[in-house]
Amino acid sequence: MDHFAYRNRELFCEDVPVQELAETYGTPLYVYSEATLVHHLTQIQNAFASANPIICYSVKTNGNLSICSLMAKHGSGFDVTSGGELYKALHAGSTGSKIVFAGVGKTDAEMKYALENDVFLFNVESEAELHALGAVAKSLGKVAPVALRVNPDLPPKTHAKTDTSVKGVKFGLDIDTVLEVAERVVGHPNIGIVGLHMHLGSPILSAEPYRKGGEKAIQLINALRKQGHAIKYLNMGGGFGIHYRKLEALPATAFAEAILPVVEETGCRLVLEPGRFIVGNAGLLVSRVIFTKETGGKHYVIQDAAMNDLIRPTLYDSFHRIWPVHPDATVPERPEDFEAEIAGTRMQDVVGPVCESGDYLAKGRNLPEMKRGDLLAVFSAGAYGMSMSSNYNARVRAAEVLVTGRTHRLIRRRETFRDLVACEEDCLT
Ligand SMILES: *Cc1c(COP(=O)(O)O)cnc(C)c1O
Repeated sequence: MDHFAYRNRELFCEDVPVQELAETYGTPLYVYSEATLVHHLTQIQNAFASANPIICYSVKTNGNLSICSLMAKHGSGFDVTSGGELYKALHAGSTGSKIVFAGVGKTDAEMKYALENDVFLFNVESEAELHALGAVAKSLGKVAPVALRVNPDLPPKTHAKTDTSVKGVKFGLDIDTVLEVAERVVGHPNIGIVGLHMHLGSPILSAEPYRKGGEKAIQLINALRKQGHAIKYLNMGGGFGIHYRKLEALPATAFAEAILPVVEETGCRLVLEPGRFIVGNAGLLVSRVIFTKETGGKHYVIQDAAMNDLIRPTLYDSFHRIWPVHPDATVPERPEDFEAEIAGTRMQDVVGPVCESGDYLAKGRNLPEMKRGDLLAVFSAGAYGMSMSSNYNARVRAAEVLVTGRTHRLIRRRETFRDLVACEEDCLT
């Protein structure tokens, strides 16, 4: 469910016309619906309520301070993958005690920063990291709370670039070495192994991988406890899929059905790190058509959002639904199936102004004839959209707005040309 709907052939975000937002803030523009954000967080909270989970919103998914602050206000903690994300989570109002720190390459400085802020758990991904963390903790006279991240070696589930639990990826400890690694730190005065972590990949459209991962987690937790580690936390990561092509995502309850029995059997407190499920369907990228063009027998819509604004299509072959903000009467107000033939449309590539053939938001898409100045909506762009944006081609990053009912407010200003030179101009000789 989301709060982006057409009313009389005009797209609204909650009770605000998207056109009004485009005119107020310019394009390209990221538009988020507060009601949708909160709805999805609540879905997870409710589905897992019986386990009283610790929910840690994944900052890398969309690290806008106002969105993080909204998450904190609604009871969420944070999953961070760098010192910078830790800084942002703290800046958004979190305390370290609600933050889990993941990532294969934490530096000593990042570990120190996290220990000083008493983060809740380090998700440790290698033996080298475990010992480095122990040393940093010792220098601070602290005990580092650790969840060992295991790669459960499951069959492929999603795009190869975002599948994190198949053999041969860089993430986590191999499932057959976790126990050896843990054995060597039994009784370590500065390392407390208190949890097991697995993040399977993303987006996942089936509960089965969580069930299979959960079975492996039960065995590992039992074995770790036999070694003498007091395992209190099971962190099942994030990865819950969303609606990209059509209504394809599972409800949070489906994942809960797979995960809750594991929590019960292990007696652990559950930790979850959802990102995409919360913010993905809550965000829209709005762009304006600059030109249309026919070349090589193909039709192009050249609009002002580019790969630097939304890299998912070219990086992951991702599909985002795209439709006019004002579809006219010759086409459906909102197609049921964006991949089928749609009356009144023809096949077009939606591309941006960047100097790369890989700069596209969609290829071979059925769209009505567009003209200069028309507005387009790119749906399900809230996750890994703005957070993966760049200044490539010296393009300024887009603005972001948050809509609540009839009101809207800027949550990130559009960058300026001055921003583009800010880090360099003082270095000119
Ligand atoms: C990216 C990531 C997440 C969030 O994944 P979503 O698919 O956005 O829910 C959670 N945990 C870890 C360790 C991650 O790397």
